[in-house]
Amino acid sequence: MDSVDSERKLKCKKCGSRFKYPERLEKHQEIAHNKKKEKCRACGTEFHSLENLRKHKKICKEKV
Ligand SMILES: [Zn+2]
Ligand SMILES: [Zn+2]
Repeated sequence: MDSVDSERKLKCKKCGSRFKYPERLEKHQEIAHNKKKEKCRACGTEFHSLENLRKHKKICKEKV
């Protein structure tokens, strides 16, 4: 009987914002929390830009 319940399901875990639609939540996470990050496959370290990842890969290879 709680109509608000369905809205509560879609909640951003990082900031607590609520969304009515899954697409909205995904879009929010992309923009607000930079969900789409570049990730190094070798060590799993995440980077905000492809440029930083490229720089890291050179060092990462030397380490491994
Ligand atoms: Zn959020
Ligand atoms: Zn790495």
